[in-house]
Amino acid sequence: MKVAVFSTKPYDRIFLEAMNKHHQHDLVFWEPRLTHETVSLAKEFPAICVFVNDHIDTSTIKTLARNGTQLIALRCAGFNNVDLAAAHNSGITVVRVPAYSPYAVAEHTVALLLNVNRKIHRAYARVREGNFSLEGLLGFDLHGLTVGIVGTGKIGAVVAKIMNGFGCRLLAYDPYPNPDCENLGARYLSLSELFVESDILTLHCPLTPETYHMINTDALNNMKHGVVLINTSRGGLIDTKAVIKALKSGKIAYLALDVYEEEADLFFEDLSVQVIQDDVFTRLLTFPNVVITGHQAFFTRNALEQIAETTLMNISEFEQGRICKNQVTMEGVIK
Ligand code: NAD
Repeated sequence: MKVAVFSTKPYDRIFLEAMNKHHQHDLVFWEPRLTHETVSLAKEFPAICVFVNDHIDTSTIKTLARNGTQLIALRCAGFNNVDLAAAHNSGITVVRVPAYSPYAVAEHTVALLLNVNRKIHRAYARVREGNFSLEGLLGFDLHGLTVGIVGTGKIGAVVAKIMNGFGCRLLAYDPYPNPDCENLGARYLSLSELFVESDILTLHCPLTPETYHMINTDALNNMKHGVVLINTSRGGLIDTKAVIKALKSGKIAYLALDVYEEEADLFFEDLSVQVIQDDVFTRLLTFPNVVITGHQAFFTRNALEQIAETTLMNISEFEQGRICKNQVTMEGVIK
């Protein structure tokens, strides 16, 4: 099948081309993100392949449909960037990669937690400068602390397992409790109870209209003073301005992010010689107790292999008229 691959980085191409030996699709790689401005690049491609920051709104979908596109293949799990109702109304099928190494994201989550706690980012810079002072590097034991996990699907469940290994007490919130987490001893609470009781909060639920800005001023008011907040899910879960206020007051003692609500104009690009225009993001960068990575939690060899394999298999299933088991319907994903 002829596929226009948007937001292509060299690593995407390497993994997709290697896996495509088994599928033989006609892949055409485009560097730009898919937006209404770049949608003409998809003209006469029956399938397009997109990633987390491609913006597939109603107008883009209408143009895609007019130009002959029948399939949108997401090479990620989240689908918050696609207008599913518009796709349905235009007769375009949407497929995704529901699971690709939950370990990649869960392990990065724990790496961020260890980093902010033990200040590895600061220690690394100091030691390179010949500064071996320990002032300002004081951390705390994770053992015995309470970790609140919001969303205990594939990634949240792996985080629960790892944090159980650290000797943490596990609390969770999810509309669908996960028996694997309950077997580890995780106790499911309401979201507001979880906020009240957690020393460390880590977000692993999807971004939906319901979860948008779930971490806002009200939620922060409920949390312990000195809470640690980790977000490797989607930036829109957090009201960043409210979080900045909470960092200034000390309500949040440590913040670690792999995602940011306005990341589409920043992440995945080298902007090191440009003036970053986003003042909220640059304010975040000034805090000594904040660590940010640029949406790299998924970025392991294992995950990229699985993403490429599932994406191409999804396209093959559609081309052969088979049932697309990774289809995302207008209602989202049936659990
Ligand atoms: P999953 O579907 O296995 O699990 C999501 C869980 O969230 C489910 O158990 C679901 O019931 C729960 N949930 C739904 N609505 C909720 C709500 N309102 N409150 C609390 N929980 C809710 O997904 P997953 O594979 O574990 O991925 C989780 C998220 O991680 C994805 O939605 C995606 O946004 C993000 N992600 C980030 C990266 C990265 O590189 N940073 C990579 C992959 C996924």
